[in-house]
Amino acid sequence: MSEGSYLGLDIGGTGIKGLRLDPDGRIGARASRPTPQGAGAQAVLDEVAAVLKELSGASRIASVGAGTPGAVDSRGVVVAEAVNIPGWKGTDLRAACEAATGAPAVVRNDANLAAYAEWSVRQIGASSSGPGLPASRNLLFVGLGTGIGGGYIEDGHILGGTDDRAVELGHVVIRPKGRPCPCGRSGCVEAYAAGPAIASLARDLSPGHESGLARLLRAGTAPVTAREVYEAFALGDSLALAVHVEVAEALAHAIGLALALLAPDTVVLGGGVLAGAGALVGDVARRVPEYVYGAAVRDCRFEAALLGPEAGLLGACLNGASLVLDRPGLLGLAGALAP
Ligand SMILES: [Zn+2]
Repeated sequence: MSEGSYLGLDIGGTGIKGLRLDPDGRIGARASRPTPQGAGAQAVLDEVAAVLKELSGASRIASVGAGTPGAVDSRGVVVAEAVNIPGWKGTDLRAACEAATGAPAVVRNDANLAAYAEWSVRQIGASSSGPGLPASRNLLFVGLGTGIGGGYIEDGHILGGTDDRAVELGHVVIRPKGRPCPCGRSGCVEAYAAGPAIASLARDLSPGHESGLARLLRAGTAPVTAREVYEAFALGDSLALAVHVEVAEALAHAIGLALALLAPDTVVLGGGVLAGAGALVGDVARRVPEYVYGAAVRDCRFEAALLGPEAGLLGACLNGASLVLDRPGLLGLAGALAP
C-alpha cells in the first residue's frame, strides 16, 4: 500500500471544494473557496492550488483526483467552456494539480466520479462493516440536482467515452418538442426532473389544483423549489403528486433507455434533489418496465445513493487513489467511508 493521503477536488461554477482522505480512509481535512467569477482560468487555478495546499497540511500526498462539470480529455485537459470561467477551455487541470502537490493526479467529469464513489462503497456490502447491500458489478448513477448527471461503472472502470462525456443522461430527449432544456434543445429528461424543472412543472400544473402548494405558488410570497414541492408531496398535496408522477415517468423513460444500452445490475439515484424525494426510487423502478425489455429490469436493483451530495468529492479522492492503490487497497479505503 502506498503511504500518504489522498486528495479530492470538486470544481464547480460557484465553489471549489476539497477533501483529504488519510491512509486509513478517515476524512482528515476539508477546504473550500469560492470560484473566482469572470476572472479567467489562471485565477481559478490559483485557488485550486490554495485549496490543495490547505488540504495537504503537513501530510505526504499520494494522489489527487479532481472533478469538473462537462467534458475533459484523457490527459486531464478541460475541453468545454464554463459559464463563469472565461478561458477555462484548454486548461491543463491535471498538470496544475500535479504541480501543486508533486503527486499523480486524475481529472474526470464530476458525475462519473459520483458514480465511482457509489460503486466503490457497494463493493464491501457483504462485509460486517459495509452498508449491508449486495455488491454491484455494473452500476448506473443518476444525479438529480440543478441539472441531471449520469455515470456508469463496469467492474471498477468508468465508462468515459469521448472526453468523459458518456452517459450524459440528462440530455436524452424523451419528449420530442417538449419542455425547453438549458442545453438549447427541447424535451430532455433534465427539463422534467432536474431541480429547477420540478419547480417549473409545479408552476405550470398549478392552475388545475386547489392545494396548499398551488396556493403558495399563486400567492408568490415565497420561493418554490423542488424542496418545497417534495415537502408538499410528503403531506399528500395533489399538485405535488401530479408533479411527482411527471418526474418519475420522465426518469423511468430515460433510465429504461440506459438499461437497454448498458445492462447495469444496480441503478442508483442521488444528488441534492433526491435528499427530500426518496419516493422517486420506488416509483421510478415501478415505471421502468414500460420502457425496456423484461430481463433488463428483472436483473437490476434500484437504490438511493449512500453518499449524499458529497459523492462526487469522495469519488475524486477514490479515483485519484486508484492511481496508486491496488483493488484491495482501494476497497479498504472505500470501506471506511460506507455509512
Ligand atoms: Zn438538454
